[in-house]
Amino acid sequence: MLRSALIAASRSAACRSVVERTPVMRPIVSRFVAGSTVDDAVRVARELAVDRLISLDHLGEDTVDRSQAEQTTEAYRVLLARLAAEGLGERAEVSVKLSALGQALPVDGEKIALEHTRRICEAAAAAGTTVTVDMEDHTTTDSTLATVRALRADFPSTGTVLQAYLKRTEADCADFAGPGSRIRLCKGAYDEPSSVAYRDKSEVDKSYVRCLKVLMAGQGYPMVATHDTRLIAVAEELAGNARRSRGEYELQMLYGVRPRVQQELAGRGLRMRVYVPYGTEWYPYFMRRLGERPANLVFFLRALARR
Ligand code: FAD
Repeated sequence: MLRSALIAASRSAACRSVVERTPVMRPIVSRFVAGSTVDDAVRVARELAVDRLISLDHLGEDTVDRSQAEQTTEAYRVLLARLAAEGLGERAEVSVKLSALGQALPVDGEKIALEHTRRICEAAAAAGTTVTVDMEDHTTTDSTLATVRALRADFPSTGTVLQAYLKRTEADCADFAGPGSRIRLCKGAYDEPSSVAYRDKSEVDKSYVRCLKVLMAGQGYPMVATHDTRLIAVAEELAGNARRSRGEYELQMLYGVRPRVQQELAGRGLRMRVYVPYGTEWYPYFMRRLGERPANLVFFLRALARR
């Protein structure tokens, strides 16, 4: 219930204005968000690149303003040029949200988002790196997967995300487990109805294992995105059963979440990628992170009370 309330708050303009205007919130936000500028993103990427891989996310989502979608596209192109100039192209890729690139525009949204993402893929190819398309709420899944299929015709390394809480995902994993695919498997971060999603935590975890089995047995490159150490142990075991070497799959976690576990796993020689968001549009991303762990919410409420 708490998680649902925070996800609802992540879409509320009134809550947004209170939280964004509360200065004591800054230190809590900076635990999960690298900063507001490209310089901040590159600085954090350089620090992490010592032992980890990185996926950078220029924050933003749900835009219904075409010029905003164009600005986001340009921001990614600037970021990718910087990654190339800094020699970070081999360690750092980018993650994009189609709803930030125009998918939600009332006219031709899907087409516009595809064109914008194509331009980002071109810049990523020039920088020697890849793009992963994030997955948003279930109303966008078909459109997002269709866009990724279209992108892969020209940019075969384009990755995407599948969410284990959706009942459809085991079948989607089978569809996307072919050669060259890059699939990030996560539990799912939105508040979805029981008609399409498992709502019980243990059901989601069981689905995650079923999906992992399909991806690990397939011919693609599984990206295991979870902070759940039991599931990471299962992923390692399934990778071993499928005779995958350590270079044939990777683990992923979010910036600011379980950093010591990230270091330990990287220290054991596993490929560990950190998803690093940056930018000024941090509010919805931050609220989803609060909902994932009650202790985060306690810090947040204390900060609000102090304002
Ligand atoms: P949980 O069962 O939620 O957490 C396991 C343990 O990890 C918890 O007990 C806690 O100790 C720790 N933990 C988890 N979250 C937090 C947190 N916020 N703060 C502190 N500790 C925490 N979701 C999407 O819907 N679409 C995406 O495109 C997407 N991309 C992602 C990319 C990456 C790299 C990762 C790691 C996650 C992504 N997610 C995405 C979010 C994901 O769906 C989950 O909401 C999130 O990862 C929490 O689930 P969990 O697997 O860590 O398991």
